[in-house]
Amino acid sequence: MKAVVYFGKHDARVSNFKEPPMGEDCVKIAVSYCGICGTDIHKFNGMGGSRPVIPPVVLGHEASGIVVDVGSKVTNFKVGDRVVADPNWSCSHCYYCKNGKTHLCENSRGVVKGFAEYICPPESNVYKIPDSLSMEHAALTEPLSCSIHGMDLAEVKTGDTVLIVGMGSIGSMMVELARISGASNIIVVEPVKEKEPLAKKLGATLFIDPTTQNVNQVVKDAGIENVQHVIECVGLKNTIENSFEYAGKGATVVLFGLGDPNNPPVFNQYNAFQKELVIKTSFVNPHTTQRAINLLSHDQIHCDDIIVKIMDPEEVPKELATKTYFNKGKVLVRMSGKEN
Ligand SMILES: [Zn+2]
Ligand SMILES: [Zn+2]
Repeated sequence: MKAVVYFGKHDARVSNFKEPPMGEDCVKIAVSYCGICGTDIHKFNGMGGSRPVIPPVVLGHEASGIVVDVGSKVTNFKVGDRVVADPNWSCSHCYYCKNGKTHLCENSRGVVKGFAEYICPPESNVYKIPDSLSMEHAALTEPLSCSIHGMDLAEVKTGDTVLIVGMGSIGSMMVELARISGASNIIVVEPVKEKEPLAKKLGATLFIDPTTQNVNQVVKDAGIENVQHVIECVGLKNTIENSFEYAGKGATVVLFGLGDPNNPPVFNQYNAFQKELVIKTSFVNPHTTQRAINLLSHDQIHCDDIIVKIMDPEEVPKELATKTYFNKGKVLVRMSGKEN
């Protein structure tokens, strides 16, 4: 089958690749759309994703598609069903699975390699989507499910102040989730000034360019007494370090952006201590896929504003290298799966 295959650092190509094995509990899905994730770019640059990467491997894990075959033991799906798949499979019998932390499973594996014609995830990872949800919008399910987990960890209460660092596609979803969660002030810290109108449309109440403005001063001047939640959605050394500075007293800082293991942030424990910060990291999407589908199906997310480009697989290698559209928002890759 045709797929975008990662062969090694800075080497991804459209190639012929063997189809994934079809187990008796698996659902074969013709992929319609698959989003480009920050982790795909991380992998392209020779770093790990949510797991180590062993090339050659097909990239992409944010897939929507149509069921084209089902294994003999599959009970809930039939040919023609419109679906999305959670890429993270867990074993259900290890210590972490048995204690409700399926995303930390010791035997976890990725079961969606979505820049391909077909994926064959186990039935347990597949979710039906309503007819009202387009295949394009459905491809946002996985990144939204991860964002929901991050927002859950932030524990935003109605009326709280939330500061979001970086407004790529994840930052945009975080703005929406902060609005839906009832935040009174939603502050976006983002150096690309052109993103301000979209930030405001999605729910931001204050947009700050950190390259020209002193973030803490602008927040103070706006009459905001305390920033209770900071969600870091970039993963660079300085944006992570700055997140701790933006956080108010007693604040929760959620580190969502994927960091560079070779360039970790400097952590000033004393500053954090003085503010009694709660610092959390957010890892993948435990039990949040259905909630993401629910939000997307009921038009709670401005999908058409977040999706900035739909491209063919042939364009993916260049995009991974240049991030031309990725820097503006979500890029979807159009695969061959079609609705009847
Ligand atoms: Zn992703
Ligand atoms: Zn497990």
